[in-house]
Amino acid sequence: MATRAAKPAVTEDVWSADELAAVRDRLLTEIEELQVDIARAEASLALGNSSEGAGDDPADAGAKTYEREREIALTLNARDLLAQNERAIARIDAGTYGVCESCQRPIGKERLQAFPRATLCVACKQREERR
Ligand SMILES: [Zn+2]
Repeated sequence: MATRAAKPAVTEDVWSADELAAVRDRLLTEIEELQVDIARAEASLALGNSSEGAGDDPADAGAKTYEREREIALTLNARDLLAQNERAIARIDAGTYGVCESCQRPIGKERLQAFPRATLCVACKQREERR
């Protein structure tokens, strides 16, 4: 009698504990990296603050402002990503990871493996982007 190998249920939407743990690790690693980035950007912003108003050259001030704004934008972006990662981890812990926040249908593993922070399925995401 041929033993039928336990067919790996290629259920697109069911996550094993191992898979979830792997995603969680990945998100945590990213959080640590983002925290380092944010700390670095904030340190450089703090330095910029102290030297501001020192020179009267408007071009120089403009360049500084630009640099500063860029730094702030990067920090905001990093903070945003950080919050998304934390949210994804909270969803893993709550057992709601992989469920679309909008339509409550499974987001799909493939999409989540590419974008572990996704909270919307492709259809809902596209609808949101069109708005
Ligand atoms: Zn959806």
